[in-house]
Amino acid sequence: MKLEFRPLPYETDALDPVYSTKTLELHYGKHHRTYFDNTVKLVKGTEWEDAEVEDIIRDAAKSEKDKKLFNNAAQHWNHDFFWESMARGGGGEPRGEIAELIRRDLKGYDGFRDSFKKSAVEQFGSGWAWLVLKDGKLQIYSTGNADNPLVKGGHALLTIDVWEHAYYLDHQNRRPEFADAFLDTLLNWDRVNERLQQAGSAKPSKGGRWQLEGAR
Ligand code: FE
Repeated sequence: MKLEFRPLPYETDALDPVYSTKTLELHYGKHHRTYFDNTVKLVKGTEWEDAEVEDIIRDAAKSEKDKKLFNNAAQHWNHDFFWESMARGGGGEPRGEIAELIRRDLKGYDGFRDSFKKSAVEQFGSGWAWLVLKDGKLQIYSTGNADNPLVKGGHALLTIDVWEHAYYLDHQNRRPEFADAFLDTLLNWDRVNERLQQAGSAKPSKGGRWQLEGAR
């Protein structure tokens, strides 16, 4: 089986006090763990037993009868993506290639910040907000429940979990406050830049560095 419950990329107290140890222990150790355990149970003895999680998600999304598997596998993938979207001492204005693309496609950092926060806050009910690279351009959108860019499209670069379990202990019902904390103190821009590189190498242009063509 290729499914793996990966360790967090930091200690559970690494994001204190912004993202508390208590929240991280519960969110990673209970919520994420349950999605992972359910996925393992659901693929056992099926055609997906040795499949990559991305393939399981794309396949299961095709049929309503596989909705339970889709929800659990996608939530497992989304949470891994979310943990890596945060780092101690993160947040603020970006550096590197992503900064250039944000200037080109999203009206600069303020445009990015407003749009990402709006997407996170206005997602009705549980879900996620995403920054993706789609058709060579940055895009921001939100998804409901377990949905993600593997089915909605685009190469995912960044996400924030806006299910209540992601922030309720630290911020109660104040989702905008959590979005601000994420954007200003947690967002891992280095990881976003790495993901951008992966997107570029997956789809290079003749001249290379395709994602920045037209930016200059
Ligand atoms: Fe969550």
